[in-house]
Amino acid sequence: MKSLLHLAILLAGLLVLSNVATAQKFPISEPMGGKPFGSSVKKLGNGVYVFRWWVYRNFFIVTDEGVIVTDPMNPKAARILQHEIRKITDKPVRYVVYSHNHHDHISGGIIFKSEGAKFIGHENVKKELGDHPSPVTPLPDITFKDRYTLSLGDRKVKLEYYGPNHGDGLIIMRLPKEKIIFVVDIVTPRRVAFRMMPDFWPDEWIRTLKEIEATDFDYVISGHGPHTQPAIDPANVVKEQRVYLEDLMAAVKTAMDSGTHSPDALQKTVKIPKYEHWRSYKKWLPMNIERIWAFYHMGW
Ligand SMILES: [Zn+2]
Repeated sequence: MKSLLHLAILLAGLLVLSNVATAQKFPISEPMGGKPFGSSVKKLGNGVYVFRWWVYRNFFIVTDEGVIVTDPMNPKAARILQHEIRKITDKPVRYVVYSHNHHDHISGGIIFKSEGAKFIGHENVKKELGDHPSPVTPLPDITFKDRYTLSLGDRKVKLEYYGPNHGDGLIIMRLPKEKIIFVVDIVTPRRVAFRMMPDFWPDEWIRTLKEIEATDFDYVISGHGPHTQPAIDPANVVKEQRVYLEDLMAAVKTAMDSGTHSPDALQKTVKIPKYEHWRSYKKWLPMNIERIWAFYHMGW
């Protein structure tokens, strides 16, 4: 009896081990590929694909009931995306999910509106788009405040709002089964922050990343990256982005505390060599520095 029990425990242990061994692995080191100013599609598996147009990315999921598309970018990219989806399935695009209100990521939804797609975004995105309307950017049909679970076929996409960070309507999208999150603009792996950090709130950005880090995920698809960068990254890129912002703020603060107050002087003297190998370090670090100067100088 005792040996049977031992056998049962051993078998249960093996089962757990084999589940771990067969957990989905995604190609974290494979670049997106394609031409720098062109487009490319990377199949991740489980019906999940990453689409790139220039340095913009989104993901889409093909289900038995239709397709979920995220961030349609612009009409030109959306037409290419529609064509790529048609190569994979005849099913219609049923939903388009907006990550946030910025037109450079979400214009072009009109292409999918004509095949009957419904649009989803945070309630603040609907308000922003209402204030700054665009004929190629349909307003969300479905809005939410904190969390929303989108279901189609046997798939679920969880939409999560973390408060203001980059504008005040940005959400992240989570595929719970694959433990993937899609994060736009607030995580761009191995690159310094974008230029003057337009519409970014540095302190809220750091808070948001900490909150995301505390959730359960293994992979990140980011909304930006050239063709040379992977379609999907390991979870630690969220932390790396947060630590970059903390290092940037600390470096600017230290220089200001020791008497350098002009943004021009700060731009010339503040260096963070730890990030020299990150993309756009030379060109954009001075702009990042000026943005942080404004944060400390103006409280903005
Ligand atoms: Zn943006």
